[in-house]
Amino acid sequence: MNQSQGRREDEPRIGYEMLEFRPEWQFDDPKTGVYYHSAVIPGKLFFTSLGGDMQSETVQKTIPFIERVFVEGMLENCEYIRIADYSEVTKASINARILYAGTINRLNASHNSHPSVTYICGASHLVKTMLRIFSRVVKQRLVFVESVEEAFRYLNNSRVSSVPVPSDDVVVSRREIDDFAAMCGNFLFGKKDIIPAASDYLAPDHPLNELYKIIMIFHDDLLELQKKEIEQKQEIEVALEGAKKLNEKLVEEKHNVEKKEQVQLRLIQRLKRARMQAESASKAKSEFLANISHEIRTPLHAVIGMTELLIETKLDKDQRYYTDTLYSSAKMLLMLINDILDFSRIDAGLIDEEKEVFNLRQLFLDIIAIMKEKASYKGLVLEGNVDEGIPDTLLGYSEYIKQVLLNLIQNAIKFTYRGQVTVTAKVVSETEEKVVIKMSVQDTGIGIPEEQQEQIFQPFTQIDASSTRKEGGTGLGLAIVRKLVKLMGGELRLKSNEREGSTFSFSLAFDKVQDEADHAVFSCKESQAARGLNNVSENTVEKKLVLLVEDNTINQKVARAMLEKMGYSIDIAFNGAEAVEALQRKNYGLVLMDLQMPVMDGYEATKAIRNSGKVLNSKIPIIAMTANATKEDRQQCLEAGMDDYVPKPVERKVMMNMLQRWLPLPDDR
Ligand code: ADP
Repeated sequence: MNQSQGRREDEPRIGYEMLEFRPEWQFDDPKTGVYYHSAVIPGKLFFTSLGGDMQSETVQKTIPFIERVFVEGMLENCEYIRIADYSEVTKASINARILYAGTINRLNASHNSHPSVTYICGASHLVKTMLRIFSRVVKQRLVFVESVEEAFRYLNNSRVSSVPVPSDDVVVSRREIDDFAAMCGNFLFGKKDIIPAASDYLAPDHPLNELYKIIMIFHDDLLELQKKEIEQKQEIEVALEGAKKLNEKLVEEKHNVEKKEQVQLRLIQRLKRARMQAESASKAKSEFLANISHEIRTPLHAVIGMTELLIETKLDKDQRYYTDTLYSSAKMLLMLINDILDFSRIDAGLIDEEKEVFNLRQLFLDIIAIMKEKASYKGLVLEGNVDEGIPDTLLGYSEYIKQVLLNLIQNAIKFTYRGQVTVTAKVVSETEEKVVIKMSVQDTGIGIPEEQQEQIFQPFTQIDASSTRKEGGTGLGLAIVRKLVKLMGGELRLKSNEREGSTFSFSLAFDKVQDEADHAVFSCKESQAARGLNNVSENTVEKKLVLLVEDNTINQKVARAMLEKMGYSIDIAFNGAEAVEALQRKNYGLVLMDLQMPVMDGYEATKAIRNSGKVLNSKIPIIAMTANATKEDRQQCLEAGMDDYVPKPVERKVMMNMLQRWLPLPDDR
């Protein structure tokens, strides 16, 4: 019997079921998939089942598990059989093998044990080859079998003598070696079709059989690698070709982009030039309109003033009809000129107004007072509601708000025949510094058809020519209102149903005024007015005598006729210098001062009156008459020492109100 194969004939059978597996002998590495499972039949058999890619780092980790088997005395002072199941080993590096074999040798030596035979089950050709090399290094006898079952079969069957153990004394003839070399030559020249399978070429027990198989594996791997190399080369060539084309395209694209950029640049330059031209054209247009409307307003001043006076004379029916038509046409013309001037100025982005401190409640009262008569004339109720939460003082464009609301109320009254017009101001949101207020003008009038709701904001657009004829209007109002609201940072909105009425609304953000100084600005005008009034009433002056300072003879005529009709006496000075002289001679009740005049203008004259000390009453009320009633003009007037202003052309009613304020006639008080 061959003892090295395991068992004596009288010994009991050794089976897999007799193996003892202990948890502390099992190693599993889920990260790499490597495992090392140990089991023993004490003093007889050492079983290991390995799997995965065995590298030295992983083998290093398995050593403590192997050691435990020996430390626990399982294989002490004995000759034992080893079965190692390699069927799941994918790779085993040389270093890993050295480490593993060295460990087993060390443990055998220290525990006085040694394996008689080691069955290697299911190892691949490569692993087998490597193990063969190592069997010499570790001086172990390795037997290669297909499976664990086969290993048990061999070690239990003493009669199986043909264990495929490679013999040390291999006999290979010279001829066989030459044939083998020739066959390997075919591998080198790639003559795959004449390479036979190992089984057809060499008997399974032929000493060169294993070597042939290994060379075939290497050869197949080599072919596979060559194939892959060719494929990769082709892929690289395709990719290179693609990259080349892409590069060409990129160059072309870059060229195109550069061309486009040049075109764009030229376009931008042209647009800039066109914009500059348009801007200067628009500026020229609005300047022209401003000038022309100023020029038209002066004679129109005369037409309106004289017509007003003519209307009040004794006229027959026909004459009254003519004068009434003349008057309403002149007023219409004035309205149109004012609207065109406003529109062109706003259109050209010219802002006359500055933000100022104002009281929205007072502004509402003023507006209602102005429009009340018109509303009640048509039998309409005009109502104003100001939210209680709105602060008393706000900072904003009060003049523009006034203009916007007046325009909207005017339209509401115009296109409402029954019911009411309501003006509302409500707080929408509020912070410590700001308050957003929504203002709306609602009427119960004819309404606006949906399809025309956008159109009406276009300049010179009116829906119904007949009602416009009846009610008058330029078609510019809403265009101006929309622009003004936008200019103040809001958006004009319209909600309207035909025959039910319309609501125009907008929201604006205002700065709250906390500072006392700001409040002072607001009340400045009022206090100046009060000062003027007191002075007049305290002084003993010829209250009915007014000095008109005006170089234009038509304006002189109109003003004289108007004032005399009201009951005032009037002296005329042609310029500022003449006015100062006249005031040194006579004690007038009030000065009506034109601004642009030859020799000495209105500002200089006012300064001279206030400061020279030569005039009889340096505190006399001075009222400016100005054709350009812009904010700066007004401010300049007040700064020069004037008390108030009336815009030209002066309307009788405006003049009367102003005079009643500053130089009331005995009956007025
Ligand atoms: P107009 O000077 O003709 O009133 P607007 O620009 O102010 O010019 O208004 C343009 C047109 O919009 C008006 O002619 C009228 O047809 C219509 N419209 C404006 N407001 C109202 C309103 N409250 N109700 C009905 N229609 C209105």
